[in-house]
Amino acid sequence: MPFCPNCDYEYKEGVAICPDCGTQLLSKEEYVTSEEWNEENWVVAYIAQQEYEADMLKDNLESAGITAMILSQKDRNFPAPGDFSQIKIMVHKEDLEEAIQFIDKIQKNETTENNEGETE
Ligand SMILES: [Zn+2]
Repeated sequence: MPFCPNCDYEYKEGVAICPDCGTQLLSKEEYVTSEEWNEENWVVAYIAQQEYEADMLKDNLESAGITAMILSQKDRNFPAPGDFSQIKIMVHKEDLEEAIQFIDKIQKNETTENNEGETE
C-alpha cells in the first residue's frame, strides 16, 4: 500500500503522489527501511509560517529537480489557530545549498511580483 510519510495516511495501490500534500508516496516497507527517508539524510532548507507558502516552495523546488518534503509540526493540543505551527521544507543534504539559493530567488520574485491580496 502506498503511504504518505507527510500525512501519515495510506492510499490505494497505483496512487503515486499524495492527493493531499503532493508528496511522493512510499510503500510502508520503504518508509520504514529506506535510507532515503532516514531523517539524517534530510535537512531543513526553510521554515515557512504558512502552508500555502510551504506548498508553493515545494512545488517550485521539485520543478527545479530538487526533491523536497514538507514537515509540518502542528500540535493539535495547542488551542491557538495556526500561529504556532512551523512548516519545515526538508531537502536532501546534498541539495541544501541549491535549495536555499533557489528559495532565496523565489522570494525575491515574490516580493516584486505581488500576488493577490496581501501587501506589505
Ligand atoms: Zn500527504
